[in-house]
Amino acid sequence: MKNSYSLVIHGGAGTILKSSMTAQLEKAYKQGLTEALIAGNQILENGGDALDAVEASIVVMEDNPLFNAGKGSVFTHDGNNEMDSSIMSGIDLRAGAAAGMSGVKNPIKLARAIMDKSEHVLLCGSGAVEFARLQNLDMEVSDYFFVKQRYDQLLEIRDTTATQLDHSSAPHGKKKTGTVGAVAIDVRGNLAAGTSTGGMTNKRFGRVGDTPIIGAGTYANNRTCAVSCTGHGEYFIRAVVAYDVSCLMEYKNLSLQEACDEVVNKKLVRMGGEGGLIALDYLGNHAMTFNSEGMYRGLKKAGEELQVEIYRV
Ligand code: ASP
Repeated sequence: MKNSYSLVIHGGAGTILKSSMTAQLEKAYKQGLTEALIAGNQILENGGDALDAVEASIVVMEDNPLFNAGKGSVFTHDGNNEMDSSIMSGIDLRAGAAAGMSGVKNPIKLARAIMDKSEHVLLCGSGAVEFARLQNLDMEVSDYFFVKQRYDQLLEIRDTTATQLDHSSAPHGKKKTGTVGAVAIDVRGNLAAGTSTGGMTNKRFGRVGDTPIIGAGTYANNRTCAVSCTGHGEYFIRAVVAYDVSCLMEYKNLSLQEACDEVVNKKLVRMGGEGGLIALDYLGNHAMTFNSEGMYRGLKKAGEELQVEIYRV
């Protein structure tokens, strides 16, 4: 798909119902998604790289406390924020990811630095933070990450052993937002994917979900597609969701939409895994597939109007 470009983003999937949303909040989410699309689109329309567009869109959502990534990340059982992120380049299958890190303002920038400036794919915990400091990435104190609504989510379930998917029903029926991700194809036909999250509320023991696992939460390959996932990470890891979509295209010749339906609406549903994904194939076709009530999502293609959606349509 040379000389055209597309960008798709998500801000989490889960129990997101119109009946439980205020007009004001809905507007704020749509605004947040729109700003993220504009940031990535600006890069693509000026002939920039898919990787840079993915990173730029995700940074905007990480800086927005409405989304569970960067500022706005959910709390662990111990009252900390431990974030995960990953990015992948479709032209050469390079990838970078960070897991269980605290204090890094923009975890997607750390994933990018790991991909570009280290020999490794996945760094975790204090080592990942040390690498971020060496790369002069912006750091923040814990107060920066404190968002009261997120802390209240933890207090609701802290005394239980449950972990809570950020955007699904809490015991008191409150609805939440989630993980962020972006996929893009640039004018040279290169694909890229990235994902960033605070994970699940009340997580402990260093729990890590699918987001920083290449092939589970994120995958990009110019021969097939770019995918970014959101949902109950344990299921997405076991179903190897992002790579499975790519494999169904590569080995079984399924179309992007067929592959996404197979994995999200059949395989994950059979396993009991709630969530969804966004994807673009090497021709610029897109998919935004989820088996939950809703998914914050947006799309901008060259020469077309920007679109943002929240609920099932
Ligand atoms: N997939 C993320 C995780 O399990 C959570 C999410 O998408 O909201 O950590």
